[in-house]
Amino acid sequence: MKADPEAQLRLLDLQGIDTALAQLAHRRRTLPEHAELQSLDARLAGLEDERVRAQVAVDDLDRDIARLEKDVDQVRARKDKDQARLTMGTGPARELEALQHELVSLNRRQSDLEDAELELMEQREQAQGVLDGVAGRLAEAREARAGAASRRDEALAGIAKDEEFRSAARGPLTAQIPADLLALYNRLRESSGGIGAALLRAGRCGGCRLELAGSERGRVRAADPDEVVRCEECGRIMVRTAESGL
Ligand SMILES: [Zn+2]
Repeated sequence: MKADPEAQLRLLDLQGIDTALAQLAHRRRTLPEHAELQSLDARLAGLEDERVRAQVAVDDLDRDIARLEKDVDQVRARKDKDQARLTMGTGPARELEALQHELVSLNRRQSDLEDAELELMEQREQAQGVLDGVAGRLAEAREARAGAASRRDEALAGIAKDEEFRSAARGPLTAQIPADLLALYNRLRESSGGIGAALLRAGRCGGCRLELAGSERGRVRAADPDEVVRCEECGRIMVRTAESGL
């Protein structure tokens, strides 16, 4: 293939832009914030489960306490009724005696219920403490996530801006390169790890870094400036300049 030496030089500029674009794409994929957000999301999911369990424990205790309070209310109502009948003092003595017995047992029942309620209230206080602790850790993790997300967005915006800048220069540059040379460059770039053209510097291919053998060097030296020369080792386009050491 033949191409004007100037067009071949433009390939180096194009390669510079394409390498920068590839590095930016790599940076976008490998931002540390991606891994950080992933681990924070897992932490948030775990804490959310923990919060639900802690809330269920508090709700269960509230329900148990409410049931005990209802029982206590029933006992109180029954006591009031018995007390009122005793105060009136009417009725057979046996009946009044039975009422007094019932009052004693109702008092004992109320005291038992109140003890049980007290116990549950202590448990509830502990459960609430657990819930508050989880809620605090959840708030911290949410804040950390928001911080990481904002750092990620900032980094992505910076990368997008750089990409826009590089891409804007790419178009006019490709217009200065013949279509067949550009196609070869693009094909080589795809098949050779992102580098399609490199400077031949001091007898060394800039693509694979290998030094040209004597015979190879002679072939390249003898090649017409319009000739597009390629490395025997890596196949990439070698652009010759005064630095090529031929
Ligand atoms: Zn090479």
